[in-house]
Amino acid sequence: MSEKVVITGGGAIGCSIAYFLSQQKKAGREIVVIERDPAYQRASSALSASSIRQQFSTPICIQLSQFGYDFFRFCEEQKSTLGYGVDLVDCGYLFLGNSDQEAALRRRSELARSLGVKLAEYTVHELKERYPWLNADGLAYAVEGVGGEGWFDGYSVMQWFRKRAREAGVKFISGETIRYRTAGDRISHAELSDGQAIAGDVFVNAAGAWCAPLGSTVGVDLPVRPRRRSAFVVSSPTAIPDLPILIDTSGVYLRREQNHFLCLVSPSPEQDLDDLPLDANFAEFEEVIWPALAERIPAFEALRVEHTWAGYYEYNVVDHNGIVGQSGPENSFIAAGFSGHGMMHSPGVGRAMAELLTFGEYRTLDLSPLSPDRLMTGNLIVEEGVY
Ligand SMILES: Cc1cc2nc3c(=O)[nH]c(=O)nc-3n(C[C@H](O)[C@H](O)[C@H](O)COP(=O)(O)OP(=O)(O)OC[C@H]3O[C@@H](n4cnc5c(N)ncnc54)[C@H](O)[C@@H]3O)c2cc1C
Repeated sequence: MSEKVVITGGGAIGCSIAYFLSQQKKAGREIVVIERDPAYQRASSALSASSIRQQFSTPICIQLSQFGYDFFRFCEEQKSTLGYGVDLVDCGYLFLGNSDQEAALRRRSELARSLGVKLAEYTVHELKERYPWLNADGLAYAVEGVGGEGWFDGYSVMQWFRKRAREAGVKFISGETIRYRTAGDRISHAELSDGQAIAGDVFVNAAGAWCAPLGSTVGVDLPVRPRRRSAFVVSSPTAIPDLPILIDTSGVYLRREQNHFLCLVSPSPEQDLDDLPLDANFAEFEEVIWPALAERIPAFEALRVEHTWAGYYEYNVVDHNGIVGQSGPENSFIAAGFSGHGMMHSPGVGRAMAELLTFGEYRTLDLSPLSPDRLMTGNLIVEEGVY
C-alpha cells in the first residue's frame, strides 16, 4: 500500500525523522521534507552550541541523551567510509552548585546514576585539587560527567541526517507550509506560500521554534515559542586545556571552542520575550557572563569577545521538554519544543517517531511521556536542567 509522509521543517529533528523512516525501507512509502530556509540561516540546528550531556532531571531526557551519544559515536565510526562525521569531542559537564542548588543537583545525580550514568562528585577541597584555576568560594557541591558527554558540530549532524535521507530517496522541497488543509478528520494537504498543495497521508510538524503557527491551522495549540539565546566566542590570554563543560552557579555555560571559549546564559524570565531579533544581546555578556566568569575563573578577568551570534530555543513554556506524538487530526504528528536540548536528542526523537509512524507504537525507547496529551492532562514532565 502506498503512503506519503510529509514533514514540515528540515532541521535536525525533521531530517532525523526522515532518515530513520527511510532506513525502514517500507515498500510504497514516499517521504517528503518541506524546508523554507534551505540555507539554514535561522534554523536553531545551525545556530546551536551543540553539546550533549547525560545530566538531566527527567529520566526520558537522560535516555534520549544516552542514545544520542551512541549515535554520534556511530557517525564518527562511519567517517572513514562515508567521508563525513559529526566531529564529536568527548568532555564531561561540570555542574557547580551553591547551598541553595545542592539538593536539586544531588537528586539529579542520583537519578542519573540509577540510569547508568557515570559521575564524579567533588567536595570543595577535591574540586580545588582537581581544577586549581577555579575559584571554589561559595560552592557546596560539584559533579562532573565521566563519559557520554561533550560537543559536536550541529550543522554536520543535520547534514548527516539530510544526506543519508536523500541517498535513501527522501525528497526535500524548498517552500513554506502556511497551513494544513483538512478533509473530514484528517489533514489532506500542506499548502505552501507559492500556491502548491502537497498531498499526503501522514503529516509531521517539525517546524522547531515556529511549530505553533502551523499547528494552530488545525486547532493544535502548542506552547512553543521562539526564545533568543546569544552565544559569545571569547579569547583569553590564559589557556585552560583541561576545562570541562562548565555550568556555573549563575547558570553561565562555558566550553572550549577550538583555541577560544564559547559561553552563553539564559536571560532572566522578564527579559526572555518571544521572537526577539536574532542579534546577540551584548548586555548578557557584560552584565552576567563576564562578571560570573571573572569571579569563578580569575584568569578570565581579561576576556575578549571575538565573535557572537544568536539563535532561537524552541522553548516549551509549560514544562521545558519536547512534545512528541499525535495531536489534533488523526494523521497529524508533532516533534518540537525541545527547549535547548534538541540537537542531542535528535537521533532518539527521529528513531522514535519513525517507530510510531510505522508500527503505531514505540519499540525501543518509549517516548509516550513526551506525548502532547500531557499538556491537557497536566501530567507534565518538567525538566529543571535547562540552560
Ligand atoms: C544558542 C543555542 C544553543 C543551543 N545549545 C544546544 C546544545 O548545546 N545542545 C542541544 O542539544 N541543543 C542546543 N540548542 C537547541 C537546539 O539547537 C534545538 O533544540 C534544535 O536545533 C531544534 O531542532 P529543530 O529541527 O526542531 O529546529 P530547527 O533547526 O529550527 O529546524 C526547524 C526548521 O523548520 C523550518 N520551518 C519552520 N516553519 C516552517 C514552515 N512553516 N514551512 C517550512 N519550513 C519551516 C525552519 O526554517 C527550520 O529550518 C541550542 C540552541 C541555540 C539557539
